[in-house]
Amino acid sequence: MIKAPRGTRDLLPPDTALWNFVEAAVRDVFRAYNFQEIRTPIFESTDLFARGVGEETDIVAKEMFTWEDRGRTLDSGDNLPPGPQFEAIKQQTDAMYAASRRRSQSLTLRPENTAGVVRAYIEHKLWDRGLNKLFYIGPQFRRERPQKGRYRQFYQIGAEVIGPSTSGSESPARDAEVLELLATLLDRLGVTGWTLELNSIGTPEDRVKFNEALRKALEPVVGKMCADCQRRAITNPLRVFDCKVTEDQPIIEKLPRISQFLGEASRAHFAEVQEILKSVEVPFTLNDRLVRGLDYYTRTAFEFTHGALGSQNAILGGGRYDGLSEALGGPAAPGIGFAIGEDRLVMSLADSAESVVRKPDAYIAPLGAGMNREAARLARELRRHDLVVDLGDESFRLKKSFEAADKIGARYLLIVGEDEVKADAFALKHLASGEQQTIPRGELAKRISQSSSS
Ligand code: AMP
Repeated sequence: MIKAPRGTRDLLPPDTALWNFVEAAVRDVFRAYNFQEIRTPIFESTDLFARGVGEETDIVAKEMFTWEDRGRTLDSGDNLPPGPQFEAIKQQTDAMYAASRRRSQSLTLRPENTAGVVRAYIEHKLWDRGLNKLFYIGPQFRRERPQKGRYRQFYQIGAEVIGPSTSGSESPARDAEVLELLATLLDRLGVTGWTLELNSIGTPEDRVKFNEALRKALEPVVGKMCADCQRRAITNPLRVFDCKVTEDQPIIEKLPRISQFLGEASRAHFAEVQEILKSVEVPFTLNDRLVRGLDYYTRTAFEFTHGALGSQNAILGGGRYDGLSEALGGPAAPGIGFAIGEDRLVMSLADSAESVVRKPDAYIAPLGAGMNREAARLARELRRHDLVVDLGDESFRLKKSFEAADKIGARYLLIVGEDEVKADAFALKHLASGEQQTIPRGELAKRISQSSSS
C-alpha cells in the first residue's frame, strides 16, 4: 500500500471545515487592518533561502527539501547506435543535453514565506506602492523529525509589512499594530490562554558588541555544552539561545543578554512598541532570551505560545527584518512580519470542531422511478435559498434514505414521491422530533430556514 510520505498528512472532513473556518476568520481580520493577499511560488531558488534565512539556521543547514533541476530531462546522444547516418543527430542531441545541463539550477521547497515575499517585493518594485501590508496562507516544507504538532509539510498564515523608510515601515507603530492584530485574531478565534513574549534583539551594530561579549562568556564554558552549541559559539553565538538541550540551560541562563547591549535608538523603539501595546491593552511579557530561529531579524522579536499545545507550544512567531531586502540585493526596505503555524492553531481549536461544521438542513429522498429529476429540481430551488441540501437516489428504499440522512446529521428529511409531485406539496419530517407535515412547494424553503434560526 502506498502511504502519504513521512511527516505529511491528509486533512479530511470534518477537520477541513475547521481549517476553512480559521482561514475565513483570518481573512476578515486582515481585511479590517487593510492587509492584502500575496501568493508566491511553493519552490524558489535555493540561494534565496541561503541568503534570506541564513546558512547557520537549522532550517537551511538541515531541513530543506532541495533538488537539482535540469531545464529538461534529456538523453545524451550516447544511446544512439554507431554509424555515420546517426552522426548529425548525435551531435544535435549532445548539444541539447549540454544546454539542458547548463540550465540546471538548485531549487528548494519553501521552508518559510518571508524570503519569498521580500523577493517578490524586489522583483516587482513594490516600493512604488509605498507601505505594503501583505498576507499569505499556504504550505511550507521542512525536513524535521515529525511529532505531534510538527510536520514536514505544514501550513502557515503570515503577514509582512514592508516598504521604504519614508512610508513609515520602520515605525514602532507598525510593530504594535501587527501585535495587536494578532491578539485580535486569537481572541476572535476563541483561542484563550495565549502568552505574548516580546524582546528586542537590536540592530546588527548592537549585536556586534553583544556577540563579542557572548563569545567571551562562552569561551570557558562551551566545552561542557552540546556539539551544536560548540559550533554556534564560533559561527553565530546568538544561536546558542535556540538550544533545547536540558543540560545546557543552566549555562545559558548565566550568559549576557541582548537587553544589556541595546543602543539608544533600539531602546527607544522598543519602549514605544511597549507603550502602544499598553495603550491598546494587549498583555505581554518580556523575554530577553527570545532570539528567534532566523538570522535576518532586527529589533522587535516575538512569539505567542499556548499552554495546551504541549512541547511544540509556539503557535506563532515573528519580528522585524530591516536588513533583509538589502541582503537579497534590493533597496533598503524595513519590515516586520509573523508566521502562525496553522496546524497548531487548528489543533488548539479542535474542541470547537463540532460547532463550525454546518450540517445539512435537509436530505431529499426521491422515492421511485422518475423521481431523481423532481428531487434535483427541488434541491436546486432550496439551495438557491442558501440552504445546505443533500439528496439520495430514487432506487433507495425509504429506510435507507433515513439512515443516510441520519449519518450526515441532516435536520429534515424531505420525501419526493409521485403523490407529492402531483400535489406539489411534500412530506417534511423533522428528524430529531419525528414530527412530519405536508408543506406546499412554495413554502418549503421558508419553513426549513425558519426552524434553523430558532
Ligand atoms: P518559524 O517560521 O520557525 O518562526 O515558525 C512559525 C510558526 O510555524 C511556529 O510558531 C509554528 O507554529 C509553525 N511551525 C514551524 N515549523 C513547523 C512544523 N515543522 N510543523 C508545524 N508547524 C510548524
